Amino acid sequence: MPRPPCNAKIVATLGPASADRATIEGLVKAGADVFRLNFSHGTHEDHKRRLDLIRAIEHDLGKPIGVLLDLQGPKLRVGTFADGPVKLLEGASFRLDLQRDKLGDATRATLPHPEIFAALQAGSDLLLDDGRLRLRVVSCGADFADTLVVNGGMLSDRKGVNVPGVVLPLSAMTEKDRADLDYGLTLGVDWVAVSFVQRPEDIVEVKRIVQGRAGIVAKLEKPAAIVCLDAILAETDAVMVARGDLGVEMPAEQVPAIQKRIVRACRRRGLPVIVATQMLESMVSAPVPTRAEASDVATAIYDGADAVMLSAESASGKFPVEAVAMMDRIIAQTEADRYYREAIEASHTQPPANVPDAVGWAARSVAGLLDVAALVAYTSSGSSALRMARERPRASIIGMTPKRSTARRLTLVWGVHPVPCKDVMDVAEMTELAAKTAVQLAFAQPGQTIVIAAGMPFGTAGSTNLLRIAQV
Ligand code: PGA
Ligand code: MN
Repeated sequence: MPRPPCNAKIVATLGPASADRATIEGLVKAGADVFRLNFSHGTHEDHKRRLDLIRAIEHDLGKPIGVLLDLQGPKLRVGTFADGPVKLLEGASFRLDLQRDKLGDATRATLPHPEIFAALQAGSDLLLDDGRLRLRVVSCGADFADTLVVNGGMLSDRKGVNVPGVVLPLSAMTEKDRADLDYGLTLGVDWVAVSFVQRPEDIVEVKRIVQGRAGIVAKLEKPAAIVCLDAILAETDAVMVARGDLGVEMPAEQVPAIQKRIVRACRRRGLPVIVATQMLESMVSAPVPTRAEASDVATAIYDGADAVMLSAESASGKFPVEAVAMMDRIIAQTEADRYYREAIEASHTQPPANVPDAVGWAARSVAGLLDVAALVAYTSSGSSALRMARERPRASIIGMTPKRSTARRLTLVWGVHPVPCKDVMDVAEMTELAAKTAVQLAFAQPGQTIVIAAGMPFGTAGSTNLLRIAQV
């Protein structure tokens, strides 16, 4: 018998190494639940081609697949250099300015972002090329900054710039992001990830455009976002712990504690949370991960994260399918460990006092007390399934929904197996359909008990108010 599907989900980034139908299908069969289209790379046509392939595979396999559009966001970059890469020596002076038509050299480079100069002060640090180089501002004006090279190295065209600790007066959406978002929404993506979120307003701005057509993922990769974490969580639909940029913007040794803090805060609110970046990084070029990487994935699973993510491993590495299969095996092993349940229970918190959360909480209690084969959420918006998932119950959750978009969105959520279904008219019909589905999908056998949560009247978002215990 095939083992039951995992609770935690896998997000796999698509790229040149995973752009053909056979590879994408291989990734799904290896355990990928959601695909990330990274709009920092590739053309609109590239992304459309991949999305069309995903939808064709979804149709053929009869299994909802989630698609997450990742917006590039205000990624800051230096300009280009006249004679190729330059070497910045420790202790040397280096100038950044706004002179867009002047190519850089060993003494200066263009930084075409006036907002940065407005926010810099003497003593501010700029990190270049993923934190490899560090420049300290000595003096600055509206259109320049004179800096001292603290950590030197080679600097080449269009390398990224991070300004840790400074809240930049930048919107989380650039012109490119707006165009990418409009395009992605017409394609019908399920989630939109907002990069370099600094404040709750950044999420509100994107929500205003998205208008519920996709769920919003706040990528937490700036220290400023951690400072107002609660306010951001209050606005967003899901969260990504974006450890790549986070580990540049702040000391790497602070990232583990912040990851745990974010996962815990999301679980408390019942918000899906993805742990991302470098999880199996060495599999970009090797068929096996390091022991430390395997342990990193397991840690996120023990903490109860909804999903773990692959970036270069599946997008541009040599072993995309092997990386997903490895991640899937680590998740399965971890979830089968006796200590896993203990860890999940120990980090469980009581939900807020409202009716939908009370129903989710009750479902968990029933599953803890009786021998329950499966929990079923009959859900239009996905909310009933989210309330159940928040409780991290012992039994699997079947997310039955008449809305295809909801089924696809639920692919990201811990423990939820989304199943598209028809509209039902009353509780009797719903119960019958839930029982039939649980048996069909081999979650339950005749005679076993299932627990169903739903909201009456059907079709009203956030109306979860019904718990039905039924015998299959
Ligand atoms: P990115 O985001 O891969 O789009 O940079 C993730 C991260 O920074 O960790
Ligand atoms: Mn990032």
